[in-house]
Amino acid sequence: IMIDTSGTLYDSLARHAENQPSAPAIVLFDGTTYDFAYLKRQADRIAAALRSKGVQPGDRVAVKLEKSIEALAALFGVFRAGAIFLPINTQYSRREVTDIAEDAEPRLMIGSQEGAADVDGLPFVSLDLGSPDGEDLLEATPLDATPDDQPPGPSDLAAMLYTSGTTGRPKGAPLSHGNLTANLSALAQFWKIGANDRVLHILPMFHAHGLFLAAAMPLGVGGSLILVEKFTTEATLAKIPEATVLMAVPAIYSRLLADPAFNAETCRNLRLATSGSAPLSPELFDAIAQRSGLNIVERYGSTETCIITSNPLEGQRKVGSVGVPLPNIDVRIVDRNGRPVEQGEVGRVQINSPATISGYWQRPDLTDEWTSDGYFDVGDLGKLDEDGYLYLVGRSKELIISGGYNVYPREVEIVVANLDGVREAAVFGAPHPDFGEGVVCAVTLSSGEAVDENEIAAAIKPDLAAYKRPKKIVILDEFPRNAMGKILKNDLKDRYASIFN
Ligand code: ATP
Repeated sequence: IMIDTSGTLYDSLARHAENQPSAPAIVLFDGTTYDFAYLKRQADRIAAALRSKGVQPGDRVAVKLEKSIEALAALFGVFRAGAIFLPINTQYSRREVTDIAEDAEPRLMIGSQEGAADVDGLPFVSLDLGSPDGEDLLEATPLDATPDDQPPGPSDLAAMLYTSGTTGRPKGAPLSHGNLTANLSALAQFWKIGANDRVLHILPMFHAHGLFLAAAMPLGVGGSLILVEKFTTEATLAKIPEATVLMAVPAIYSRLLADPAFNAETCRNLRLATSGSAPLSPELFDAIAQRSGLNIVERYGSTETCIITSNPLEGQRKVGSVGVPLPNIDVRIVDRNGRPVEQGEVGRVQINSPATISGYWQRPDLTDEWTSDGYFDVGDLGKLDEDGYLYLVGRSKELIISGGYNVYPREVEIVVANLDGVREAAVFGAPHPDFGEGVVCAVTLSSGEAVDENEIAAAIKPDLAAYKRPKKIVILDEFPRNAMGKILKNDLKDRYASIFN
């Protein structure tokens, strides 16, 4: 069963509701199971209710719901209504929601009553599928209601997500239904995700990773989701034995490893475990393999492009590489003038893909990412090996130019993180009076270790040319991170902006 690229993900859901109505679609942590017929009926009903609240095709609908059957029904309901799904981080304060609302101008916000953030000028409706006569979005909307107009098509916008903002101010990335089906269908085939898969869902649902990859893709092929509504290592470990697929980020694998219950026995039914959103260090890859027998499939993507590359299911998985381009995507590496570099050389990663957004939301001024020949510059630096595998060396905005030499943060991070006692390293540049920028390395230590800055500096010396070595090393208890576990390098850069003065 495949995701139909001539329609929308809602169309795929409707097809499964027709062909396998009582197949499980969503299984909650407590075992409560909802089938495809239920999910589709609720999506239609939500779409009808949205219409009655004045939501028209093309309107943004903000959704600030904890991971739940409601959140998933809302996703497909907004799709059915032809509106644009705008997921909001459930941790966001009123101020943060206001910032997004001012930019995206949603028609209304669906939330849960407890999390109601009252934002000026943004009508709020709660959603609770279990309360038939609640005063919420579904009030007075019969169970079999459905909008009387046509569902949207591939060229209509489906969702808008804001970029993580690890290197700048978040920007709205509006994805069309066609962007999503092109990418998720290609990836489902690449990973052979099918109706028999049970995907363990442990990620937040307001980022592309947790929303599209881990949720919409499996449902799109008729598979099921096991929802861990509130992530904890215990809850995850309790459910892993029931799952065939696990999608996670490196920070989660680190936490799982800290628990001895993460082992080969627990993972016996997993046929695929993936990692993305942030770099997976070779040490972490090895530690996972040793403990659980899992060979993590690392993949790479961004909010603007969905998935770009992945290590293969069959064929070689190269540690430290994010894999090869998906079948319908071309990846090239160019220098700062946009000219292709020699194979093996580092440059900017540009891609040609049917899943790339065609512009940022209400920012016609932002055109630098798009080239005149149809490529999109992802903002990363990388190199391709002789087999076409991509290796990332950092964000292009993170490139450090120290004394005229290019320093790629990732290369230094790998060397430092490899040292005994070091858990993780984050390398960035700070203004330096002599070198323009000086290399700074922040590290966190493995628990119980007492390594100091001088020992680290001495230990990396044999492996790095002098200009790449950090001129300052700082040891932190923790890194500032976003909800996906990404290190917020901008925060670090700000914190240490005057370290060389
Ligand atoms: P902003 O562009 O606002 O600074 P951001 O780029 O962090 O935010 P996202 O779109 O969430 O926002 O992140 C995409 C980026 O995540 C990619 O460009 C890449 O740098 C990084 N990334 C994703 N997967 C991987 C991976 N497997 N290894 C290394 N980096 C990855």
